[in-house]
Amino acid sequence: MSPISLLGIPIDANSSHLVGTADGPAAIRAALHSGSGNHSTESSTVVVPHLDDLGDVAVANEAGSTADADAITAAVRVELERGRQVLSVGGDHSVTYPVLRAFGERFGDLLTVVHIDAHPDLYDDLDGNPLSHASPFARAMEHGCMSRLVQLGIRTATPHQCEQAERWGVEMIGPRELDRFDPSTLDGPIYLSVDLDGLDPSVAPGVSHHEPGGLTFREVLDVLDALPGPLVGADVVELNPSRDLVDMTAMVAAKLVKEIAGAMLIRR
Ligand code: MN
Ligand code: MN
Repeated sequence: MSPISLLGIPIDANSSHLVGTADGPAAIRAALHSGSGNHSTESSTVVVPHLDDLGDVAVANEAGSTADADAITAAVRVELERGRQVLSVGGDHSVTYPVLRAFGERFGDLLTVVHIDAHPDLYDDLDGNPLSHASPFARAMEHGCMSRLVQLGIRTATPHQCEQAERWGVEMIGPRELDRFDPSTLDGPIYLSVDLDGLDPSVAPGVSHHEPGGLTFREVLDVLDALPGPLVGADVVELNPSRDLVDMTAMVAAKLVKEIAGAMLIRR
């Protein structure tokens, strides 16, 4: 069985509010391999032996850097070309646009992206940075990386971002209306992007932007379980260890990595 490629992407330079997410990959790895848990998923799949941890992508971590974006796309492209599923850990959410460029090259019109977040991340730019962590899905839609984008947990959409969503037909579903999410309508390969601030801050305090009223951990796992697959790629982003409490968000992120990897192994 071909392993899943795990890539760390240590970037926080495209964050708008606080730095610290560049330390996310190391904190997730530490939690994943800590003695506090084991390597089995809730459905008893032992995933860690099937995760090929390729270390961190070499990035300069400079705001708006197209060279960093190109390095991320290239790293993911190599893995997709050898038939791997790719699970990346951030890093701020800016990493998802260059990751999706590589997925778009491979899957193009067939790809559906399911995006869990408090924020739509559809700003045309933020503070003059088009590669901001508030803009990855605007860039990905412009670039035609996917056929369909379904956003879950959104609770901060500005009028500008609502216009952007309308322009591209982005489906935006808030925490109060999660039952509108109908996985049976998903078709073809799926990419899952999880911004940890989509969870409620009581579950995941180690993020730069606390946005109360978010999803429970179980709701996120239920979304994951409901994805019909094949699950070709995923990311877990926005862990900011400097904001974390007793490493609890790192553990949340690590468990998500484990459960997503388990879902990838089952749904190829
Ligand atoms: Mn985000
Ligand atoms: Mn967010």
